[in-house]
Amino acid sequence: MGKVTGFMEYERIEEGYEPVAKRVKTYKEFVIGLSDEQAKVQGARCMDCGTPFCNSGCPVNNIIPDFNDLVYQGDWKNAIEVLHSTNNFPDFTGRVCPAPCEAACTLNINDDAVGIKSIEHAIIDKAWEQGWVKPQPATVKTGKKIAVVGSGPAGMAAAQQLARVGHAVTVFEKNDTIGGLLRFGIPDFKFDKSHIDRRVKQMEAEGVVFKTNVMVGELPKDSKVTNWAKETVSPAQLQKEFDAVVLAGGAEQSRDLPVPGRDLDGVHFAMEFLPMQNRINAGGKIKDQIRADGKHVIVIGGGDTGSDCVGTSNRHGAASVTQFEVMPQPPEQENKPLVWPYWPLKLRTSSSHEEGCAREFAVSTKEFMGKNGKVTGLKTVHVELKDGKFVEIPGTEKEYKADLVLLAMGFVSPVATILDAFGVGKDARGNAKAGTDFQGGYLTSAPKVFAAGDIRRGQSLVVWAIREGRQAARAVDEFLMGSSTLPR
Ligand SMILES: Cc1cc2nc3c(=O)[nH]c(=O)nc-3n(C[C@H](O)[C@H](O)[C@H](O)COP(=O)(O)OP(=O)(O)OC[C@H]3O[C@@H](n4cnc5c(N)ncnc54)[C@H](O)[C@@H]3O)c2cc1C
Ligand code: SF4
Repeated sequence: MGKVTGFMEYERIEEGYEPVAKRVKTYKEFVIGLSDEQAKVQGARCMDCGTPFCNSGCPVNNIIPDFNDLVYQGDWKNAIEVLHSTNNFPDFTGRVCPAPCEAACTLNINDDAVGIKSIEHAIIDKAWEQGWVKPQPATVKTGKKIAVVGSGPAGMAAAQQLARVGHAVTVFEKNDTIGGLLRFGIPDFKFDKSHIDRRVKQMEAEGVVFKTNVMVGELPKDSKVTNWAKETVSPAQLQKEFDAVVLAGGAEQSRDLPVPGRDLDGVHFAMEFLPMQNRINAGGKIKDQIRADGKHVIVIGGGDTGSDCVGTSNRHGAASVTQFEVMPQPPEQENKPLVWPYWPLKLRTSSSHEEGCAREFAVSTKEFMGKNGKVTGLKTVHVELKDGKFVEIPGTEKEYKADLVLLAMGFVSPVATILDAFGVGKDARGNAKAGTDFQGGYLTSAPKVFAAGDIRRGQSLVVWAIREGRQAARAVDEFLMGSSTLPR
């Protein structure tokens, strides 16, 4: 433990943000990381608890008290060693993780949690700056060939782990660049894509082969899932040519809102809108970009994806942005003695909300209205939850003006045709069915086919995808070699 009395002496320091007026003019990241001195003070606040709840609150089980102490001591080099021992990509999580570790921090019971995520961010940025992040190619090759389908955080983590123990890994990606939803989904102002590019270089130096614009299997004809593939490979071909296949294709099927007027022009899935802007920021060309300039935008769905639509619409120059959430407004503060160390339900105001957005809770959309085939507004009603069902409250009907409606109500499942083509069994929600047991975990019902990340657990978080990619890699290694030195 760094400083025995640190938690009593120092207060939590938040990372800074560029002012709203400046940041909404660009798509650049605007979080200002901690200085070395601030990170040291933050590390000194850690109490090195006998039972570190933060460690089990973190899905990759980062060894948080150890790196907090090392940062306090100024030993950044060992801090990155500790961090990388459990997390392949702290540069991703240090930026976009919602930090369930901090909800579980013991200090959070009656004070403010240690700023764990900001320390993680500071460690990995320092490590890249100092040139400490290097490829770790395997010294002995196994001669085994593994195909990874999908290059999001789950596929990347699985591929990196497998390459480091000597397997020949090929990653197939239907889009034109690597990264999954980190690349085409999460806006650049939250996560700059150069963080993925340098990891791809590292992984190529470790022997991973990336094949982009390649679709494994087929999407249904009317699918609105992002797809820039130029060639197709059949699942049967992969199963024949490779010793094992890891499915890491995410859960890309957006939840729809089939109410009257859904087919009006101007009503789109969030995942039609957001990837276009990512692609344009990368210098790509998009015919008929969905734009929010001067429009009254309604975002349906109160989660992260909805919030990203808010931030992007404001950067386009929307006339107004309103976000609907069907659930009632949560409390401003959680009841800590009741919920700690778990992730609490409370009102969360994102940096995008702060940039300008009206928020409506307990609202259900009944109909989209339009003129000449274009959306002009929508009809809503307030709802309340009764016996687990939403019930309309009479007399609360309302009309809103809208020129652009973005549907951000989450994702139902992976695309079924891909799982079917591999002969992979599904769970009740349509996800790839595979357990996470210590032995035999991540293996699906199809021979030598494994599944990890959102495709197995449903739409989740980057940090869970990294965990599953790492664990699936160990399962594949054990399956092929009889035992494994990879950590779980
Ligand atoms: C808009 C948005 C914002 C989000 N914000 C956050 C956030 O702030 N923090 C957070 O932790 N999480 C966030 N998430 C969730 C997070 O991005 C996902 O949980 C995570 O990316 C899942 O990783 P994955 O590797 O399982 O799948 P994905 O990231 O979905 O990657 C799957 C990849 O597989 C490819 N693929 C699929 N099928 C095939 C096929 N048949 N052939 C070839 N390629 C294929 C896809 O093109 C894609 O590139 C957000 C999600 C969205 C949509
Ligand atoms: S990965 Fe997320 S949960 Fe884990 S230590 Fe980092 S911020 Fe916390």
